[in-house]
Amino acid sequence: MPTAKAPMSTPHDPFSPSTMRDLQRPVTRAPQRPCLFIDKDGTLVENLPHNTDPLLLRFLPGAGQALARLQAAGLALVIVTNQSGLARGYFTRAEFARLQQVLLQRLQEEHGVRIDGVEVCPHGPDSDGRPACLCRMPAPGMLIRAAHRHGVDLKRSWLVGDTLDDVEAGHRAGAGGLLLDSGAETIWRRSPLREPDARFFDWEALADYVQKMADGPAHTPVEWLPRPPTGYTSALSAG
Ligand SMILES: [Mg+2]
Ligand SMILES: [Zn+2]
Repeated sequence: MPTAKAPMSTPHDPFSPSTMRDLQRPVTRAPQRPCLFIDKDGTLVENLPHNTDPLLLRFLPGAGQALARLQAAGLALVIVTNQSGLARGYFTRAEFARLQQVLLQRLQEEHGVRIDGVEVCPHGPDSDGRPACLCRMPAPGMLIRAAHRHGVDLKRSWLVGDTLDDVEAGHRAGAGGLLLDSGAETIWRRSPLREPDARFFDWEALADYVQKMADGPAHTPVEWLPRPPTGYTSALSAG
């Protein structure tokens, strides 16, 4: 596992303008690839909160086949996952690492999928449920870190997740945000950043979309859209 960065207690605002500028410095490494960022729980595998038992891993239907197709189409594949169970002491890094190893091995053996990277946020939310770090989704830190590590062009990349927090993280990173609606999202706090570029109910349809869009124009950053639809409340102030 990579060494931890800042201590968890460091006070900062993950959404402050200076932080966002810092995170959004251009990636200089070349060549840059499009990427699909994949939320783990409820998107790639069935959501069993805080599970680290490899025997309980169940892929969502079609996920492996879809990833194999997108990898063949030239996309990098990076798993991004909030794991507050680490901060809460529900399981150890070693236990999570073992789960991760089995997950990657099964994707390789069962579907020929080689995952380019796994980014884990080990931190918990603050008392209001907001990220207390730069990486817990809806903050975009994991995507930006992966983009630097793997030479990813965020403007031609997507995040797929099963909650609007995931979608927001994708948009905050400058990528697209796709919702794989498996029924996990129950609150539906809306804002322009949380509005999915597209919503799917199965992996095959999602792969069709991403494959078709991969060679298309870059994303328009959501915060620059001229007129947000009326009636939306700020996701952050609603927190
Ligand atoms: Mg999820
Ligand atoms: Zn974090």
